[in-house]
Amino acid sequence: SFRAAARLDRIKPSPSTAAAARVRALKAEGRRILDLTVGEPDFDTPEHVKQAAIAAIEAGETKYTAVNGTPRLREAIRGSLRRTHGIEYADAEITVGGGGKQVIFLALMATLDVGDEVLIPAPYWVSYPDMVRANDGTPVIVATSAEGGYKLTADALESAITARTTWVILNSPGNPSGAIYTEQELAALADVLRRHPAVSVLSDEIYSEISFTGAPAPSLAAVAPDLRHRVLVVSGVSKSYAMTGWRLGYAAGDPALIGAINTLQSQTSSCPSSISQAAAAAALEGPQDFIADSVPRYAERRDAAVAGIGAIDGLLPVVPDGAFYLYVDCAGIIGRTAPDGRILSDDQDVTLYLLDLAGVAVIQGSAYGQSPFFRISFATDLRTIAEAVEGIAEAVRALR
Ligand code: PLP
Repeated sequence: SFRAAARLDRIKPSPSTAAAARVRALKAEGRRILDLTVGEPDFDTPEHVKQAAIAAIEAGETKYTAVNGTPRLREAIRGSLRRTHGIEYADAEITVGGGGKQVIFLALMATLDVGDEVLIPAPYWVSYPDMVRANDGTPVIVATSAEGGYKLTADALESAITARTTWVILNSPGNPSGAIYTEQELAALADVLRRHPAVSVLSDEIYSEISFTGAPAPSLAAVAPDLRHRVLVVSGVSKSYAMTGWRLGYAAGDPALIGAINTLQSQTSSCPSSISQAAAAAALEGPQDFIADSVPRYAERRDAAVAGIGAIDGLLPVVPDGAFYLYVDCAGIIGRTAPDGRILSDDQDVTLYLLDLAGVAVIQGSAYGQSPFFRISFATDLRTIAEAVEGIAEAVRALR
């Protein structure tokens, strides 16, 4: 009979995947659910990208590629990093994988031994701690504060580093907070890192171009070029180009680390889909108007969500500078009583209450390591956002 490895006991399925399954089940029962759990753009993949994939199929680009991706895709990634950050990467500093997620997993697998610590500022993307645990490491959660914009400060970094610290994960723009580290904030972190040469930085920049500040989120690799060999930049096409289902991500960093990731890749998937690679190359090297068009639309949705949630007594939205999530502080309604008599004692209760009473699906803050909060995705149309906000407002008004 099936006996799971010990590593399985250390991890759980992704809460966002679980939330999506709950929404699907309720919909299958015939309930109308306003789904604000999704972590993907509602836009379609740009037409020229689809055409590039079709052309690749027709041209017979349907075979294994090099483990680190096709030369054309690597060149397109280098061009994209040059364009967004002004950083010049060598070909040997680039690798690709089946999504940013897989690249992060392999980077941790390539570097962590039992007990190695990975600093993860909270709130964090749900997958980091479990990915660390799955690869024998120890996640060390570092709290952030509202005053600090939910970002890791130099002081907090300094005091969290130990002799076992292998990585610190920076995610800017952040999921779920939408926080973007400024160049000054990154420079302050760099000062600490210079004193701790054994610590590397996994810079998850998957949302870098979904920024409402007028420029892509700055990268530590560009702000502190002297630390560049210790920064692994991870990104991908999923979010910026509405290509989540194509499963294509990439990383740029120290060639020795990239080589180690390639070794693991060669023994796991060999390479990502050749067709997705052709599509991603077209996305990165072709016209960038999809980003120019979609970012103002996300900004409009953000403004609607922030205004709507901000007007509800007891809820406090964290105004995001990037990505497409709104993290909402719901401390103001914890302890209150629902019409059916249940008491909302934590953010999981709040989430279930909003689902039951308003048919609005959001994800509880406990999934992101910071409570009591919930996360709303605004990668959906303005009407859905307006309806959901109205439903949440009504549900909160019904509390005693
Ligand atoms: N990093 C963060 C912060 C994310 O939110 C996600 C997706 O939800 C990813 C990485 C992974 O993206 P993908 O594997 O689709 O490239």
